[in-house]
Order: sequence, then structure tokens, then C-alpha cells
Amino acid sequence: TATPILVVGGAGYIGSHTCLALSERGYLPVVYDNFTSGHPEFVKWGPAEQGDIRDKARLREVLAKYQPKAAMHFAGLIEVGQSFKEPEHFYDVNVSGTLSLLQALSDADIRNFVFSSTCATYGAPEYLPLDEKHGQKPINPYGRTKHIVEQALGDLNLCGRMKSVMLRYFNAAGADFEGRIGEWHSPETHAIPLAIDTALGRREFFSIFGEDYDTRDGTCIRDYIHVNDLADAHVRAVEYLLNGGETIAINLGTGNGTTVKELIAAIETVSGRPMPIKRTERRAGDPPGLVASNTLAREVLGWDPKHGIDDIIRSAWKWHSTFNGHSD
Ligand code: UDP
Repeated sequence: TATPILVVGGAGYIGSHTCLALSERGYLPVVYDNFTSGHPEFVKWGPAEQGDIRDKARLREVLAKYQPKAAMHFAGLIEVGQSFKEPEHFYDVNVSGTLSLLQALSDADIRNFVFSSTCATYGAPEYLPLDEKHGQKPINPYGRTKHIVEQALGDLNLCGRMKSVMLRYFNAAGADFEGRIGEWHSPETHAIPLAIDTALGRREFFSIFGEDYDTRDGTCIRDYIHVNDLADAHVRAVEYLLNGGETIAINLGTGNGTTVKELIAAIETVSGRPMPIKRTERRAGDPPGLVASNTLAREVLGWDPKHGIDDIIRSAWKWHSTFNGHSD
């Protein structure tokens, strides 16, 4: 029978794509999700258990039922803007919630943990590409909650309680190529889904947040990484731990940067129409460029991202054009 892996937040964007990848590799993804932002219809490759990460009794019940060999933790709040408006809520879910989960796992003698971290733990880059040795000075509460959990995981490792792979994502993007699952946030704030919705005529215009950055075309550069490549890295990370690997933090990005204007051009190519644009002020807290060094992921996980920006746009286009009515 398939080895069960607990996928906390497995009904969300990256979690659901990871469940698909786990099941393709012969594992049983057991989803634990409170469905506040996750979607029950995204749980297709294993059982769904409804519950909150702050509810230790419920966690204990689910752990006893499935006895997973490892846990992956995707559940959390992700929006930088919201983290400034509701910092208490961010600390409650991202920090207290994760500690509650870790305690329940430790009590159940589960010692392998894959954590969704972020390049936002680095703060404003002092050099590019960002490698894992770059200092961590988050510039928003969101990044700080993730950094605090990384530090806690370091201590749990030190004390022999838990081994972790902390995966620092750059810009997750794209969707399943068959269109079964995709990016679905409410409200949507991310550049690619907003631009595609504009190209599909569901929005009047796309706002470019600043054209006066010191970059090749004046717009911000980001390292967009296909969600299937992220999912593949998670399966590799869990196998690394099951094979006795040590606690480590690893960047997940392609190493290539794309500007906002280059994104728009790629979407115009797919849609065959010019994008209606509105030029807007810079968004507070946006660094001009974020690009990953992925050498460590290649060395430690044998990971090799397969998809560039064209695959990202093509798969996201397919998802958004067939799946209507989810974007606020
Ligand atoms: N962006 C934009 N218009 C939008 C949303 C985003 O110009 O409506 C820009 C944003 O300034 C950033 C890039 O697109 O440089 C990616 O933003 P997103 O919110 O997708 O991801 P983030 O980099 O903030 O994690």
C-alpha cells in the first residue's frame, strides 16, 4: 500500500499540485485543511480531513488514523498587504498554528517536515541571485512569520525533535497542464492571474506597479517558477528526509528573471490582443529584482526545473480560460 504523507493545506494552490505529484510517485497524500482559502474540489488524489492547524485534538485524531511518515506544511496566510493590516492574525496562523502542528507531529513521533517558506525571509536583496547564505532580514510581517518558523525548525532540529526541509519559494505560477487544478485566490492579487483575467475581458485593465525601477525596462523583475516544478521539489524533499537527509533550507526558483512588461508581452502573444494597461504608482515594499540561485536545490535534491515563462503562461491561460467565476 502507498506510504501516507500528511499534506497540511493540501487544498490550496501549491499543496494541491503537490498532492498530484505525490500520487503520481506512488504516495498517498492525506489532506488536512480548514478550507478557509483551500478548495474541497482540489482534493482529488487522496482523503480530505477538515481541521485547523491550531486544533491539536483534531490533528492528533487524523495523525492516529493515517500514521503518516512525514508532513508537508502549506497552510498559511500569504498576502504581504494583509500582513500589515492584520499582523495578529498572521502570527496566530503562521506562527502559533505551525507550532501547534509541530507539537502534534512530535507527540505522534513524526520527525520529517517539509515547510513552505519564502524568498520574503531575505528582505531587500543585497546581491543577486539570492543564495541561501544571504542574510535574512524580512521587511514585512508575512516574511517575518516565515522566518520565525524557520528559526523554530532550526531549534527542533538541534534538540533532535524534527528534521526539516525549508523550501524558500520565489514566485509560484502556472497550473496543471491538463487544467484540473490551478491558481484560485480570493481576492486575487498576483500579477499573472490578474493579467490573464484582463486579457480574457474579465477586468478592464492591468495595473503596472511602477515603471521607474532600475531594471532593463523599468518594471520589477521576478523569478516565476512553475507550480509543477515546485511540486516535484516537494516530493524530492520528502524522499530526501525519508532517506536520512539533514535539516536544510533550499531556494526554489529558475534562476531567470522576467519583468512585468515581459509577462504582459507573453500573455499578449497567447491572447493575440494588446493588453489594456494602466500605469500605477509603485506598490509599497516591492523590491526591484528577486532572482534565485538554485544551485543547492540541484545539488541536494537533484532538482531541475523544467518549465520557463512560456509554459507558465500557457498552463495558467488554460486554467483561467476554462475555470470562470473565481476571481474577485
Ligand atoms: N504587479 C503589477 N500589477 C499587479 C500585480 C503585481 O505590476 O496588478 C507586479 C508587482 O509589483 C511585482 C510583480 O508584478 O513586481 C509580481 O507581483 P505578485 O503580486 O504576483 O508577486 P510578489 O512578487 O509580490 O510575490
